[in-house]
This record gives sequence, C-alpha cells and structure tokens, in this order.
Amino acid sequence: MAETLRVCALYPDLMNIYADRGNLLLLQRRCAWRGIGFELTASGLGEPLDGDGADLFYIGGGQDRDQRLCAFDLAEVKREGLHAAAERGAAVLAVCGGYQLLGRSYELGDETLPGVGLVDLHTVRSDAPRLIGNIAIEVNLGERAGGVRVLAGFENHGGRTHLGPAAQPLGRVLKGHGNNGEDGFEGIRQRNVIGTYMHGPLLPKNAWLADWLIATALGRDAPLPPLDDAFEAAAHVEARRAAGA
Ligand code: GLN
Repeated sequence: MAETLRVCALYPDLMNIYADRGNLLLLQRRCAWRGIGFELTASGLGEPLDGDGADLFYIGGGQDRDQRLCAFDLAEVKREGLHAAAERGAAVLAVCGGYQLLGRSYELGDETLPGVGLVDLHTVRSDAPRLIGNIAIEVNLGERAGGVRVLAGFENHGGRTHLGPAAQPLGRVLKGHGNNGEDGFEGIRQRNVIGTYMHGPLLPKNAWLADWLIATALGRDAPLPPLDDAFEAAAHVEARRAAGA
C-alpha cells in the first residue's frame, strides 16, 4: 500500500467510555476503503510516547477515577512526546475525559489533576447536575473540511471547561451544553489538535471529521476522495435530529 495512517491510542483500556473506541474502527475502515494502510499502536500507563511514532494520537473519555490514573502519567511520562507530535503537526483527537486532560488542570474538589498542557484550558468538576444529552455544534475547519459544517453527538460530563483568552473553541453550540453550559462554545481547536466533549461515537456520526483527520494526519492538502456514504449520512442526520438541530 502506498500510504499508511499510523494511529496511537492513549490508554485504550482506561479511557474508553460510550464506545469511544468505535472512532478508531471508523478511521480504519475509511482508510481501507481508499487503499490507505492503517497501523494502530497503543500507549498505556508507564509507557513512553514516541512523538514521531504516529500521525494521529487519540484519547477517549473516562470516568474521574480512570482519569486520575492517566493524568499524572500523561503529564509526566508522555508530555514531551505529545508536545513534540503536536508541534510537528501530527493530529490529536481527544474526547471528553481525554479532552479535559489536554489542558492545564482538572479540579475535582480539593484535588487538582495536572493536564498535559497542550492547549490553554482548565476544567472544574461541578456539584451541579451533569451536562448530559444530545448535542450539535457548528464548526469551521476550513476549505478542506468543506467550510461550515455540523458535528452531532452526545455529551455527558460533570466537569466544566473554560478556555484561555487566546484559545479557539472547536465550535459554537447549536443544541446542548458544550464546554460549560454557559458560554455557548464547545471543544477546542489548536492547529491539528482537536478536543471535544462529543462522544457518540463522534466519528461514525460525523464521517466528514474522520476524513479531515485522516487527510490532516497524512499531510494532504486536498480532501480525500469521496466514498459511498449513505449509511454515514443517515447516522449524521439521525444524530442531528436527536439533538434537535
Ligand atoms: N469524568 C469526566 C466528567 O465527568 C469526563 C467524563 C467523560 O469522559 N464522559 O466530567
């Protein structure tokens, strides 16, 4: 095969709720259908992260308990590798609990978990009701992603995330809660690093984002050739309908 997408999943056994691992399966399939190779590696607790070892780094959602285990490892063992990867333009996708750990810190009552400091955000665990439900957001990742698009999925988080002054959100909330239920923003985007609260799983419901990630990770300037996306389009429409957008 001419080209291979190399994906590294961080803590795939601990950070994988709501079938977040399905996102990886979708990436694999969409590569295979186009004759692009797919190589999946994992980096778990205590294992160093080779920043050159993958084109796309993925971290899924997790409970506070599992995040606690991963937070220190991410901030200490994998920090350098992940920063090096992002600096050279590798794609990073982090969902929910993983998203929270991309920032500066996650405060849980008296305890403050360190973030990996890849992006400027901090998260505070709230005692107020969890932010749960179907969500749709409006996103613009530029021409190659087709301009303004919609992402639809499901969110369930107790943490409220606040972006730093210079940070760019991933999108604007159309329906649902987003980062903190107050400012109308969802997720974060910094060059090729994407963080979001959207599970769903996210990529099967939003195949266009999967294609943007693949193209970005492979360093392609042009969009990937289209596929027959009848099922994917139906999943997207249904997710939007569920969110009421
Ligand atoms: N434990 C985090 C929170 O509740 C993230 C949960 C998740 O990944 N769904 O805010």
